[in-house]
Amino acid sequence: MTKKTNDIKYIMSQQNGRRITKEDVIFGINKRAGEMIKEKGAENVVNGTIGALLDDDGELMVLSSVDGAFRSLSPKEYAAYAPIGGTPEFRSAAIRAALKGFKPKTARIRAVSTPGGTGSLRNVIVNYSCPGDKLLTTDWHWSPYNTIAEEHGRSFTTFKLFDEAKKFNVEALKSKANELLEKQNQLIIFINTPAQNPTGYSLTNEDWEKTVEYLNTVPADKKVTLLVDTAYIDFAGDEDEYRSFLPYLEQVPPNVLPVLAFSMSKTFTLYGLRCGAMICFAASEAVADEFVSVCEYSSRGAWSNSPRAGQEIIARIFADPRLLEKVTEERKEIRDMLLARAKAFEDEAKRAGLNILPFDGGFFISVPCKDPVAAGRELEKEGIFIVPLAMGLRVSIASISEEKCKMIPERILAAITKTREDK
Ligand code: PLP
Repeated sequence: MTKKTNDIKYIMSQQNGRRITKEDVIFGINKRAGEMIKEKGAENVVNGTIGALLDDDGELMVLSSVDGAFRSLSPKEYAAYAPIGGTPEFRSAAIRAALKGFKPKTARIRAVSTPGGTGSLRNVIVNYSCPGDKLLTTDWHWSPYNTIAEEHGRSFTTFKLFDEAKKFNVEALKSKANELLEKQNQLIIFINTPAQNPTGYSLTNEDWEKTVEYLNTVPADKKVTLLVDTAYIDFAGDEDEYRSFLPYLEQVPPNVLPVLAFSMSKTFTLYGLRCGAMICFAASEAVADEFVSVCEYSSRGAWSNSPRAGQEIIARIFADPRLLEKVTEERKEIRDMLLARAKAFEDEAKRAGLNILPFDGGFFISVPCKDPVAAGRELEKEGIFIVPLAMGLRVSIASISEEKCKMIPERILAAITKTREDK
């Protein structure tokens, strides 16, 4: 039987409540950017769609120290299966990479390997919510959150990330979470910080204080899993300073379980190796042991074991203090380059009068606007490719040069103004 939904015919496959589009929006725009580059030359095109750090010539930046570690792996190290939850050396290296100098006072910390940060998000959803549940995140968020939830028969509802004063809207978080907890006994909250995708916002310690204050009011018969998506944690600024929120994760009651989704994709420029870890801050040994066993079981039923090569690389880096120092230094260099691009964009946006959302760090800056699709289309005509989201445009400063970061705010403003006037 042929089913027709959103102009898509399901011939042999089943829709199963999902909204499956023919082409991923970002990959579609990226393809058009590639075509224009072929036609007009890279210098005449701005491809601000890609979520990876590229140099000024549009080439992927890979930390040479990490590349060296990769090339030194023996066949057994990359070709053998890894244990389902990760090699023991990787698990402890992942905890060191995620927590750095932070030493937990009370929380039981455990790590389970996952294919990228994405695997951690999936495992949290499957194991800490029930089919049909509503999950909670911010209105500005990474859209694959919805895909992952839908794949497992869950869906997200959102709260406003910013209040009128453009500050973290803890009141909105409280009221949405309370509303959901009236209907469900368990709730997962996703917060992407520091350096959120797509806004670049990082929760301040004051934001954390208020969030933890709220979490302490969750009724004892309800369960909350707080997923902190730290995909961009090492691209916000000083790596220790941006981990100063970690102690807050120990200040929650036992019915709240914080979990970090830690991605090696950006931190070690290993996007394609699919390496990551989920790390729990459990209130008891029992909750920590359960975390490991349910996540390993669930991994077995999804991807079995995660790729071994990335795990071996991370373990090797953390076993060699000089190599670790080199990786950290190299990462600082590329982060400084990224943050210089961000500053160029912000300064120029300010000068031009372009309203951007509060940016703190990371790969993306967002510009709120009424008709992002129309503004995006207008910009494409001029060779500027950025991503229209539901409430604005997302610019990947990770993938364009400082010079282009300086050049585009005025053009974005002109496109937004023109599409507003066209209405
Ligand atoms: N979370 C956010 C906000 C992201 O932007 C990404 C990647 O772009 C991820 C998680 C997952 O990263 P990966 O699965 O590639 O490690």
